[in-house]
Amino acid sequence: MSNDFMGQSENTISEAGCLYIVATPIGNIEDISTRAVNMLKQVDLIAAEDTRHSQRLCQHYAISTPMISLHDHNEEARIQQLATKLDNGQSIALISDAGTPLISDPGFKLVRELRLKGYKVSPIPGPSAIITALSVAGLPTDSFSFFGFLPAKSGSRKQKYQSLANREETLVFYESSHRIMASLEDALTIFGSRQAVIARELTKNYETILSGDLQQLLETLETDHNQTKGEFVLMISGAARAESVNSVDSESLLKELLVELPPNKASKIVAKITGKNKKELYNLALELKAK
Ligand code: SAM
Repeated sequence: MSNDFMGQSENTISEAGCLYIVATPIGNIEDISTRAVNMLKQVDLIAAEDTRHSQRLCQHYAISTPMISLHDHNEEARIQQLATKLDNGQSIALISDAGTPLISDPGFKLVRELRLKGYKVSPIPGPSAIITALSVAGLPTDSFSFFGFLPAKSGSRKQKYQSLANREETLVFYESSHRIMASLEDALTIFGSRQAVIARELTKNYETILSGDLQQLLETLETDHNQTKGEFVLMISGAARAESVNSVDSESLLKELLVELPPNKASKIVAKITGKNKKELYNLALELKAK
């Protein structure tokens, strides 16, 4: 029987000398792909952010592969050690405590160095809190930016928010339970009552998705302390988009400009502001002029 799906073999075979970046669940232990489990079973070594934490996942899936730690404090020292193992034909999987490694988690230096040295680095995709949160937020997802964790101090946090105040895309941040209130207060100061969504404890028992303007969200968290517990993704809608400019009445704008400008210039400006068709606006300008 063929195991091919969309041209890719479903058989998991770890390749000698390859580092696999393996995504693990962000809460619900069942949110891991079959391929990820098979890969974790097959590789010679798992480099885990916290080996004790990852034991639970390994026990659940009967993964008995040896593990070593790779965290922020030993990542640089591990690079050469792991490169030597890859040179010896071993295959290695990198995992973090939750979600996709490197996404606000260790692994960036390792991947950069190994790729620079020509080693093969291959992804085994799966959950990440960013995408999980965006998928249920109901905020525009055609364009978004992720900024990881916000600064811990209010002054730097406000500066960060201020630097993003004119961005039109959805803004995505990670936040911890002890700072979520302060972050919302600062966001309200900088963004006013923009629409935002807080995704809390995704895929876990107390999963909650709260939508509203920043003032409403702050009030909800102030009145229900339970809503400040757990892990958070904070999403803030971008600055008003071009659509709001499009809602400007182009005919009125054209009329005003025609008082001062010839039809070709006036229609060119309105087309630029509204994104509407220049020729149509020019014809409308001629009609308005003739009235
Ligand atoms: N590598 C992970 C990923 O791919 O999403 C992120 C790791 S980062 C150290 C942990 C932060 O991610 C948390 O503080 C929280 O902001 C966010 N996060 C992780 N799991 C979450 C969940 N289940 N619900 C909401 N936010 C979560």
